[in-house]
Amino acid sequence: MIKGLRSLSTLLTPKVNSREWIHDSVRKIRSPLPSGGGQCVACLAPDALYGLCTPCRQDLPANHWHCRCCALPLAFAGNETLCGQCLQNLPPFTRVIAPWRYRYPVDGMIQRYKYNGQRAFARPLIHDFATQLVGMLQTIPEQRPDLLIASPMHPARRRKRGFNQAADIAEQLSRRTGIPWTTDLVIRNRRTRPQRGLNREERLANLRGIYQVGRTPPARLAIIDDVVTTGATARSLTEALLEAGAAEVQIWALARTPG
Ligand SMILES: [Zn+2]
Ligand SMILES: [Zn+2]
Repeated sequence: MIKGLRSLSTLLTPKVNSREWIHDSVRKIRSPLPSGGGQCVACLAPDALYGLCTPCRQDLPANHWHCRCCALPLAFAGNETLCGQCLQNLPPFTRVIAPWRYRYPVDGMIQRYKYNGQRAFARPLIHDFATQLVGMLQTIPEQRPDLLIASPMHPARRRKRGFNQAADIAEQLSRRTGIPWTTDLVIRNRRTRPQRGLNREERLANLRGIYQVGRTPPARLAIIDDVVTTGATARSLTEALLEAGAAEVQIWALARTPG
């Protein structure tokens, strides 16, 4: 069972301002992780499969009931419903696929990965997501995108963090699904205030016009990200891709926040 990510001995203390830490995190991100076996990242049980033991994997907050467009978690059964926000203002993307809800322990796992460069915490999520996508693409091959696009990060933020987690996820999903991926089709041409703490209108205003698409994209795209929050980033990036000539854009992310 998942006890508490905070108290685990496997956690490293990040030295966020240290150049060495950044290099070290890049090395960790780039080096391939052994497949299967090993210790559970959540409870330290010895019989983990891709980083999680069976009980911890079963405890993950699956996003079973959700809005059929933006994947907003819903409190009632049914996946054919649109949430209030999508009903009011239908997003430009076809749909968001996000298998987990962004809450304990998925939030902690993603934060360790994203901010501390501890790739082992995201490994079970990325692995299981890829398995789910491979199954979905076999069942509904017409949903297959031509290209995976890692949600772009401003170069200054990428330098500070040491890596772009969206690119890391896109690379791993590409390897499993066989769909090519890219980071250079879209450029994020200015830094924005962090989206956290802003309301919906502020988020959309914060993002207006920040994406520049360098060449004509293929028809069907999937934007890859770690978490979808209000969907403001996804909306803005999708609009830029549709304007550049894409026909259909999906969003694939590990988790969806509750609002
Ligand atoms: Zn466990
Ligand atoms: Zn929705």
